[in-house]
Amino acid sequence: MNVFEAVKQTVTTRQAAECYGIYVNRAGKANCPFHNDRTPSMKVDKRFHCFGCGADGDVIDFTAQLYGLDAKSAAEKLAADFQIPYTHYKRKETVKKTIREKSEEQMYRELEARCFRVLSDYFHLLRHWERAYAPNLEDETWHPLFVEALQKKDHIEYLLDVLLYDSIEERAALIKEYGKEVMKLERRLSELGTGAEREFEDVGREPALPDPGGSQGSSGGER
Ligand SMILES: [Zn+2]
Repeated sequence: MNVFEAVKQTVTTRQAAECYGIYVNRAGKANCPFHNDRTPSMKVDKRFHCFGCGADGDVIDFTAQLYGLDAKSAAEKLAADFQIPYTHYKRKETVKKTIREKSEEQMYRELEARCFRVLSDYFHLLRHWERAYAPNLEDETWHPLFVEALQKKDHIEYLLDVLLYDSIEERAALIKEYGKEVMKLERRLSELGTGAEREFEDVGREPALPDPGGSQGSSGGER
């Protein structure tokens, strides 16, 4: 028998109330401990019900409310206070299992966050390449990074959308399918690293135009 059943079968709310210092009169009524009760408005028997504030429940609810405990802790407190034997159901296994599940879930979350970060970085890079390497002349040979941007941008955007908005099943399927590719991409991005940044600066900067002010220098010089 688990602790809830054992307690409910053994202790009435009235017994618990009296044990916890609440006076119950001969009519089975008590001043309600859950509201400012001047007359005994709480009927206390196997269960309890307050006609003043509507508090209602069984002995476990009563104890939980009285001590601010969750139901399990309240039941365990009652079992201890009334020396009620009960069966501990596979408690250890449950705890262990919870930890294992939690860490697996956590690992998955971390992997998902990592994939999202890599894809997002890559997406921004593609958008940058698309602008920075756009051919200026019609017959100019396209820069490979511009080609890559055209080819990959939509697909990467789609993958990001899945990771952002789809169900956990869809996301997990995506990571299963593209995980390896994303990790490769991560290595590539880190190798590009400083080199790519330097490249950005060069391309991103407007081409230096001849100073229209000529030999006069900057206008700041006149101030
Ligand atoms: Zn009440």
